Amino acid sequence: MRKTILALILSLSLLTVSTAFAPPQADVTNNEVILSFPETATFHATISSDVEIQSVVLEYGNEQQTCGEVIAKAFPQFTPGKAVTAEWTWEMRQSGSLPPGATLWWRWRVTDTNGKETVSETKIATWLDDAHDWRSMNNGDYLRIHWYEGDQVFAADLAKAAYSGLQFNETRSGLKADGPINIYIYANTNDLKDAVLYEQSWTGGLAFPEQNIIILGISEDDLEWGRDAIVHELTHVLVGHLTFSCLGDVPTWLNEGLAVYSEGELDTYSQQQLEDAIRNDTLLTVRSLSAGFSEVANKATLSYSQSFSIVKFLVETHGQEKMTALLVALRDGNTVDDALMQTYGFNIEGLEDAWRQAIGAHPRTVSAQPTAQPTPTYVPTIVPISGAPSSSMQATPTAIPTSSFGGQSTTPETPTRMAPPLWLTLTLLGFCCVFGLVIGMVVLGIVVRNQKVKGGQNGKQ
Ligand SMILES: [Zn+2]
Repeated sequence: MRKTILALILSLSLLTVSTAFAPPQADVTNNEVILSFPETATFHATISSDVEIQSVVLEYGNEQQTCGEVIAKAFPQFTPGKAVTAEWTWEMRQSGSLPPGATLWWRWRVTDTNGKETVSETKIATWLDDAHDWRSMNNGDYLRIHWYEGDQVFAADLAKAAYSGLQFNETRSGLKADGPINIYIYANTNDLKDAVLYEQSWTGGLAFPEQNIIILGISEDDLEWGRDAIVHELTHVLVGHLTFSCLGDVPTWLNEGLAVYSEGELDTYSQQQLEDAIRNDTLLTVRSLSAGFSEVANKATLSYSQSFSIVKFLVETHGQEKMTALLVALRDGNTVDDALMQTYGFNIEGLEDAWRQAIGAHPRTVSAQPTAQPTPTYVPTIVPISGAPSSSMQATPTAIPTSSFGGQSTTPETPTRMAPPLWLTLTLLGFCCVFGLVIGMVVLGIVVRNQKVKGGQNGKQ
């Protein structure tokens, strides 16, 4: 016992001595990140210390809303010594890519052979392409427009549209910005596609609510589409923020409905299609619009128009406060049925009945087998930027592409905003064919190889 006490006193005194004469902490210099957008971010540092460095850990991430503090750690290889250089590359194809404009942060945690730990200052960098000469413009406290092609008037026009969208959302739906929203305007859809990995070819815009970022491809001669698209995506960011939680989920008809509603009235094509569906009793059930929209172009357009109509009905019949209450109930983890019931006193079917009545549609046909609900097919809306499953770091940003598509391909017959066009369907079909072909070739390859092996064995025998 006495020995233990003695050892304790001795070690305490040693500790005091070592503290009093503590060598300077490890020195971290050349601490920087080199971006190779959109593929990689390589972190470098030179670390020196009076005592040999035993461990170097890179802690990193990106600034975003998360369900708790999550820090990713990387363990760069280095040769132990009193001066080491450490380097580690963040491969976006493996982790799932970040939106342009995201804020990266990192710091180094260094331990020497005495167990002394040094943590470098946390540094940040903006994950953005340097291929473009970005300019920025603020509009109010919450909007920052970034663009590189077109003059001030072009950017100011979009900033104004975004500002009106913000006000519309606040007064009509109770959706408010709670921090600056960065809007990156690419000069066209191709530039936009180059900036993100794994993106569907038809995407005209993406919203990243967790990072308060919107990216769009808007050319100068496509301004009218751009104004609507910017408001649409802005609404997704606002909805994402108001309803952010690790519990709840917002049904697609509500999220897309709010976004389309904030754009203003439906375009002529969509309005006509909706009226036809009302008259011919071919409306889709509200429940079927909860988890995703159809891949079929016409059905997808109708899904957006119906969602618009349902949200318009809820806001204009029951008011903004109830819409906010519904969104908050969803954020708090209630099911859609429960959230609707708490707020309006009806569930999804009750909503559909009331909405159908309000728009002069036929009453809902009650299915003989209410349990036999068709599985909806999903339009490639809510799945965006994701590579291999993300590391322990964070959820891959959920982006919700605009209902719109790049305006460059519009023809007079094509609705200019809402519908994934025919070529989307064709592209998807194309993908299916290519996929089928690849599977076929793989199977063929295996068969041929097996036959070859068999042939070889036979030959031996
Ligand atoms: Zn949308």
